[in-house]
Amino acid sequence: MRDLIIIGAGPAGLAAALYATRKRMDCLVISKDLGGKSNYAVRLADGEGPGAIRADELVTIYKSRLQYLRHSHRLAEVKRLTASGGTFTCALEDDSTEEARAVIVATGTRLRRLGVPGEKQFLSRGLGYSSISYSHLFAGKRVVLVGDADRVLDSTLELSIHADAVTTVLLAGGWFSEDLVARARDLERVTILEEATVREFRGDEYAREVVLASKSGEQTIAADGFFVELAPEPNTDFIGDGISLESTGSLRVDGTNSTAVPGLFAAGDVTGNGYEQILVSLGEGSKAALSAYRYLLETGRANA
Ligand SMILES: Cc1cc2nc3c(=O)[nH]c(=O)nc-3n(C[C@H](O)[C@H](O)[C@H](O)COP(=O)(O)OP(=O)(O)OC[C@H]3O[C@@H](n4cnc5c(N)ncnc54)[C@H](O)[C@@H]3O)c2cc1C
Repeated sequence: MRDLIIIGAGPAGLAAALYATRKRMDCLVISKDLGGKSNYAVRLADGEGPGAIRADELVTIYKSRLQYLRHSHRLAEVKRLTASGGTFTCALEDDSTEEARAVIVATGTRLRRLGVPGEKQFLSRGLGYSSISYSHLFAGKRVVLVGDADRVLDSTLELSIHADAVTTVLLAGGWFSEDLVARARDLERVTILEEATVREFRGDEYAREVVLASKSGEQTIAADGFFVELAPEPNTDFIGDGISLESTGSLRVDGTNSTAVPGLFAAGDVTGNGYEQILVSLGEGSKAALSAYRYLLETGRANA
């Protein structure tokens, strides 16, 4: 049995793996891919401006380190994680199992898509799913935000500081706090469109306009960038009995990235931390590995 299994190799899992190998833990990373969502980055037609610090470049360094340690990772999907008597068992897609005394869940979230024409085509080229990483690029520009809950209004407040024009599309069937809608409506550079649906995104190499439909008919809005702000879904479907999840599906952790189950840790977007940032995930992954190490030392369970 191993000391530690890390599920997921996005920024959180990769950082955890680096710390675990530094501590000479007998660690296995099981992941469907290397890099996770950091493999995507939204580019705007006129670039990022000079001096951009790219967090995904950091991930590349972690990735190459793990690739170098070939024996320490498996590219596979975990279908089930169960806990019993201080041992964690991962059942994999090929029906094999892996066991460890501690586990870090770093499986991130998956995007919710609108499923309209142009959405896939322009992903990362003028169209993104979380404006938080890009709001500073919109100084003097126009942006369109689309969402079905308060997340899109929070982004509206943030973008209104930077952009010249923010058009916020509140999707029909969504739920929005009245006070947030009123605050956004009061902002000079913000236009709120209620009860609308998105027909399609259009453009050339980059997304350039969105076609909307509402009671007042169809309209086309041009902008420099578009964000679909639908809350992503945590990748926790494989979590088995005995491990409880939040109503949103995320795994709650304390300040040390420990869950309520001894020996089980979580890091990155899967914890529902609300930041969805590469650097935050790298930090949380590092912390989770150090906490797992401390747990193994304190319970006298370290292999090394
Ligand atoms: C289009 C786009 C652009 C972005 N741009 C930026 C940016 O510029 N700057 C920034 O800081 N952030 C950006 N983000 C957010 C950032 O990518 C995420 O916050 C970050 O990747 C989260 O890291 P994570 O390790 O928690 O999860 P993820 O990156 O989601 O990684 C999860 C990992 O778990 C694996 N996994 C999932 N389920 C299983 C399973 N059952 N079994 C095995 N493996 C599994 C996946 O394959 C993946 O390797 C962007 C996100 C998107 C979608």
